Amino acid sequence: MGFNHLKCAAQEKPLYLTSLPVKGTIHTSSANQKITDSAAAATAYACGQKTNNSFLGKLPNGENCLTIAEEAVQKEYAVGIYSTDHATGATPSAFYAHTTDRNDQKTIEADKARATQHMDIVVPADLISDEVDAKLTQLSQQPDKKGFFVLFEGAKIDTNSHKNLFEDMKTELYDFDYAVMKAAHFVVKHPDTTLIVLADHETGGLTEACAYTTHKHTGQDVPVYAYGQHADLFKGEQENTAVYAKIKQILFR
Ligand SMILES: [Zn+2]
Repeated sequence: MGFNHLKCAAQEKPLYLTSLPVKGTIHTSSANQKITDSAAAATAYACGQKTNNSFLGKLPNGENCLTIAEEAVQKEYAVGIYSTDHATGATPSAFYAHTTDRNDQKTIEADKARATQHMDIVVPADLISDEVDAKLTQLSQQPDKKGFFVLFEGAKIDTNSHKNLFEDMKTELYDFDYAVMKAAHFVVKHPDTTLIVLADHETGGLTEACAYTTHKHTGQDVPVYAYGQHADLFKGEQENTAVYAKIKQILFR
């Protein structure tokens, strides 16, 4: 989801998420490519290190990295991962799986099965906005936990952009926007939480005139919006790896 995805969707219907008070820009390149894939991009958010395209939860040298979700489990936080992507989709998987091959479904499924013992994982979810209220309540009200970390992904903004399906892309984006609004309402009621709205890369090379120019990802910067405690940290330009350090600072303060 790039800046023009937001701009073009807003021409039909105003978006809520762009009204969040803190705005920033993220550089998305991976360790070995100017244009990242979702595996390396999500691993940068999950582990704070640039890695090679196709790597999930792995550093360029092949070592496993400890993801923010795994560290949260270790520190006795509740963790939830929810996405409209298929069961072995790269973005959710980067938070609990470890493989140099994002298409290695056997390893990803096995890692997911292991992770499910400690994390609540719903992949694929139907409408991401349907998950938000119940999951935030469930994760935040576990009395034996020190806090919670949750990821909600509207994956079809990317998959529909690969197919250059502008209307279908907008359908997912509007639902994602509704999910963001629900999460923001939670933050209003729980001021010690932080909402961060991210994309892992731009897909489709969408122009200001709302025309797709490629079926692939591009190296364009992507937007970040934030709201809640220490949201200011996300202001301005940053590498995707810096997002991890900022989440960590907020989550484990
Ligand atoms: Zn993609």
